[in-house]
Amino acid sequence: MASFLIDNIASLVTNDPSLGDGPLGVLRDAAVVLDGERIAWVGPAGDAPPADARHDAAGRAVIPGFVDSHAHLVFAGDRTDEFAARMAGQAYAAGGIRTTVAATRAATDEALAANLERLVAEAARQGTTLIECKSGYGLTVDDEARALRLAGQVTDEVTYLGAHVVAPEYADDPAGYVDLVTGPMLDACAPHARWVDVFCERGAFDGDQARAVLTAGMARGLVPRVHANQLGPGPGVQLAVELGAASADHCTHLTDADIDALAGSATVATLLPGAEFSTRAAYPDARRLLDAGATVALSTDCNPGSSFTTSVPFCIAVAVREMGMTPDEAVWSATAGGAAALRRTDVGRITPGARADLVELDAPSHVHLAYRPGVPLVRTVWRQGALVGT
Ligand SMILES: [Zn+2]
Repeated sequence: MASFLIDNIASLVTNDPSLGDGPLGVLRDAAVVLDGERIAWVGPAGDAPPADARHDAAGRAVIPGFVDSHAHLVFAGDRTDEFAARMAGQAYAAGGIRTTVAATRAATDEALAANLERLVAEAARQGTTLIECKSGYGLTVDDEARALRLAGQVTDEVTYLGAHVVAPEYADDPAGYVDLVTGPMLDACAPHARWVDVFCERGAFDGDQARAVLTAGMARGLVPRVHANQLGPGPGVQLAVELGAASADHCTHLTDADIDALAGSATVATLLPGAEFSTRAAYPDARRLLDAGATVALSTDCNPGSSFTTSVPFCIAVAVREMGMTPDEAVWSATAGGAAALRRTDVGRITPGARADLVELDAPSHVHLAYRPGVPLVRTVWRQGALVGT
């Protein structure tokens, strides 16, 4: 395998404090050597070993590729009108998901795959080198299994979210729908997924239903993650911690007890500011979580209803401006934090042996991601050592 040297890096974020300054392990005037799909060497530019090919970063910053640990990409249709109505004053409700369910069921495999690939490519152009993908717009046995099969063609991080909302056919029988999600639908979906998720929220699934969904999935070898405390306070966060979920996602409305539970656990708090932006809601308080000692991830929640963005740089800028995060914390959360939320140690860092997922910024420092909001700063992206998105 040919080796590849990236040198003349003004500022390299490694996310390994043993390699550089602070929690981000920042190295100045650095170089990185890739060997195929892996990172082979990291250090001062002057010490770099010879390589077969070279890229001159010309005084720019290099950071780990973004790890977007929360996205809903298997869908059809468009909810522009709903967004416009919301911005004209209409409230967001979980039921809007059913609009996308109807469009998704009606779509061909080819149309769903094409939309999915388009969104993954769009994310990659903005620096995302690993993205999680959920089902949840099929809500029948066949449509959920189809969504997971398609997701598996673009990522290893596939999540069964049959419990997104109660399927319209079961509107009068939510208990019957939970039986389906924990029975025949799980049988069809478990072989195609790594994770099981549930939308634990008023208008979706209550604490007991969410527990039933997650424990059934765990019994089939899936690892839990939870949509928790987005629209109001609720049992989602406590349930996630109790069941040892990898992540509690949204965490917008937290009590002191919720914060303590997250801080005292291995469950990552995944914040999704695109959702608050797109529903004109109050942002989660990242500062409170960080000060308590919780691990925080930052992701897009890309979906056609409540957060139709694939841009992690956008989320970083909002998190810094509106959620009390420092630029360093936001960049860590969007890289190493996302990796922690997916229980991955091979991504979200630039260290020898890690996957060669790197982003060169059109800026001398990662701080520019928040300092220059809305500016397309992602210049070059390498995913598993291969150049993408240009
Ligand atoms: Zn979500």
